[in-house]
Amino acid sequence: MQVYLSCPDCIEEQARHEASSEPPDYVNTPKRLKSYPVQLTNEISYEVKCDFGHSSAVLVGSTNHEILFEFGVHSILDGYYREAITSFAASLERFYEFASRSIAIAYGCPEEKEVKCWEYVAAQSERQLGAYIYLYAAHFKEEPRLLSGSNVKLRNASVHKGKIPTRNQAVKFGNEVLSIITEISLKLWQTIPQAAHKVLSDRTQISINNIVNAGGTRPKHVQSIGLATHGKRPLEEHLKRKVMEHSRNTLDKHRKIIEELKNR
Ligand SMILES: [Zn+2]
Repeated sequence: MQVYLSCPDCIEEQARHEASSEPPDYVNTPKRLKSYPVQLTNEISYEVKCDFGHSSAVLVGSTNHEILFEFGVHSILDGYYREAITSFAASLERFYEFASRSIAIAYGCPEEKEVKCWEYVAAQSERQLGAYIYLYAAHFKEEPRLLSGSNVKLRNASVHKGKIPTRNQAVKFGNEVLSIITEISLKLWQTIPQAAHKVLSDRTQISINNIVNAGGTRPKHVQSIGLATHGKRPLEEHLKRKVMEHSRNTLDKHRKIIEELKNR
């Protein structure tokens, strides 16, 4: 999945230019405001190389579950509804991880013990779900809202039995996942913000260390990539907003293929 990021150095230069008394720069202004495609992975920071030769690392400030949800959104836009369900389901599982670990930390579980305990449940999603249900109940004094029975069936049939769902089914599935994530995220940030922040910043630190150890740059800038999970609107609304960006993406990809064919 591809998203677009701006060059932080160019944005800074453009701001300096606009604040100065220099005459309008019709050549370099559009070049500075250009955004560049990057392929999203599980990492949190990406390198942007611009037309002026700057190279900067940009933090996208998103959690694993948010990025996976966006993969589902892009799969719907591409017409891959089975893949959309797989990504939405993975997003929900990673959200359960985020919630469970945040609650454990909030209740004073020492960090190294929490990491060890997560290792025991990490390989099996049923263990993770069990941990989530009980941690949630202990914290919120009620049972958690889980995926509805019909969507659990749809997920299992799609993931394990090769069922190819319709667009409508994929959107409904994504919408339920989005609504669970949005509702419970809000409750977590309202009740245990410090623990939630700790879980996120630990993940950010691990990701940055991975990048730096692999010879990459430490990010100094943050950019938002317009995620469904940040929008507080139903999935259909988000899909409408993403169509334009996605068409540009597809055009870019096709242009690249044509150029490669020409150069053969
Ligand atoms: Zn630049």
